[in-house]
Amino acid sequence: MTLMLHNSLTREKQPFVPMDAARVTLYVCGPTVYNYAHIGNYRPAVAFDVLFRLLRRIYGADHVVYARNITDIEDKIITRALEEGVAIEAITGTYADAYHDDLTALNVLAPTIEPWATGHLADMVAMISALIERGHAYVTQSGVWFETASMADYGKLSGRRLDDNEAGARVEVREEKRNASDFALWKFAKPDEPEDAVFESPWGRGRPGWHIECSAMAQKHLGETIDIHGGGIDLQFPHHENEIAQSECAHGAPLANYWLHNGFLDMAGEKMSKSLGNVVLLKDLRETWPGEVIRFALLSGHYRAPLDWTEDLLSQAKTTLDRLYGALRRVWAEEGAEPRETGVFEALEDDLNTPKALAELARLASEANTAADRQDIEAMAEARANLIDAGALLGLLQSEPSAWEQRGNADENARIDALVKARETARANRDFAEADRIRDQLAGEGIDIMDGPGGSTWRRV
Ligand code: AMP
Ligand code: ZN
Repeated sequence: MTLMLHNSLTREKQPFVPMDAARVTLYVCGPTVYNYAHIGNYRPAVAFDVLFRLLRRIYGADHVVYARNITDIEDKIITRALEEGVAIEAITGTYADAYHDDLTALNVLAPTIEPWATGHLADMVAMISALIERGHAYVTQSGVWFETASMADYGKLSGRRLDDNEAGARVEVREEKRNASDFALWKFAKPDEPEDAVFESPWGRGRPGWHIECSAMAQKHLGETIDIHGGGIDLQFPHHENEIAQSECAHGAPLANYWLHNGFLDMAGEKMSKSLGNVVLLKDLRETWPGEVIRFALLSGHYRAPLDWTEDLLSQAKTTLDRLYGALRRVWAEEGAEPRETGVFEALEDDLNTPKALAELARLASEANTAADRQDIEAMAEARANLIDAGALLGLLQSEPSAWEQRGNADENARIDALVKARETARANRDFAEADRIRDQLAGEGIDIMDGPGGSTWRRV
C-alpha cells in the first residue's frame, strides 16, 4: 500500500507523492506562547508527531524535514506581559519551556526545526515587500494590508468566496481597509505598547501579523512549496487561507501540496477552549496520569474526527497500556529478532487511522501472550521486536516494562526500592518473619514483589 492522506484542499483522500523523496517537507503551526496549554492544544502536536514518525519510517529519518514554529510575537503575549509587568521574553520563555516539558511527557519527538517568529523579522519584511511590489498589498495609516481582491482564487482552501466574507460581516470593517476580508501584514505600533514588542520596518515601527509569520518561516526553512502543511481545523480559515494568499502571491507557486487538519478535542460536546472556560491544562492532568496514557487517549480517535475527552477515556487508555506492557514484560527477555511490517504500519498508511493501529497493537500483544504461554522462544522474540517496533510508530511502548510498572513519583519509588532491598537483606539473614512483613505491607499498598535469579523487582498491580 502507499500512504494515503486526506487533503483539505482537494477534499479527497489521495496517495501521498512528495516532490523529492530525499527531502520530504512538513510544516505545522505551533502554539502562541502566552499561557499554559490545554489538552486540545496538544492534539495537533501528537497527531502530526505520528505523521512525522510514519514519514521517517517510509522515507528514512534523514529525509524528512519537519518545522513546527513557536509564535512569540502576538497581541495576546503583549497583553499578558503588560498585565504582569514583565518583559515579553519572560512570558514567551516560560510558556515555551512549559510546552516543551509537556511534549516530552507526551513522547512527542522534537521537530527538525523549531523556528521562533522573533528570529525571522527580516524574512517577513522581505515577503511583505515582495507583496507590495507585486501589487498584492497596500500601506495605510494603521499598517500594511494584504488585498484579498488581488488574488483570483482567494478562499480556495476553506471554500469561502470573497463575497461570503463580506456579506458575513464577521471581519471587522475598518475605514482604511479596501475590503472587509483584507488582513494585516504589518501593524504599526500604538503609543502605549512595550518597546520589546516593537520592531523596525521600511513602513514604520510595529509588528508583523500572525499569518505572515508562518508564511515566512515555512519559506525560509522548507522552501516556497512544501509537501504537507498541518494544523487544527480552526486554523483553516482565516489563518491557513491567508498563509496561502501571502505565499502564493509572493512566490507564484503553491504553498503546500497537501493540507491536513485535525478535529477538535471536545468536552461534553463542546470544543475545549479558553473562551468557553472548559479547559484542562496538560500540566495539571500529568499529576494524575502518566504522559503515555494521555498520548494513548489522544490517539484513540481518528485525527480528523472530534474526540470527546472523558475520565473514562483516560482510565480505558491506562488499562489497555497496562495490558500491553504486561504482554511486553512476558517476552522482554527474548531479544535479537527482526521486526516484521505489522498491521499498525498499514493502518497508519490509511490516513493515519490510529484507532485501527491501536487495535493492531493489541493484537501483537495477544501474539506475545500466546508465545509466552507456549514458551515458544522464537515466537516470543519476534513478538517483542514487533511490539517495540510498531509501538515506536505510535510513540508508545518505548519504556522498559518494569519502568512502566514502577512509574510514579521518584520519592515514592525510592521508598519502595528501599523496602524491597530491606526484604532481600532480611531473607539473606534468614529473618523470614521480617521479609514476610515487608511483602505484606507492600501487597497492602498494591505492590507486587517478583523474585528472580537477578534479585527482586516490583510492580504496581
Ligand atoms: P490556540 O491557542 O487557540 O491558538 O490554539 C493553538 C493550537 O491548538 C491550534 O493549532 C488549534 O487548532 C489547536 N486547538 C485549540 N483548541 C483545540 C481543541 N479543543 N481541539 C483540538 N485542537 C485545538
Ligand atoms: Zn501557521
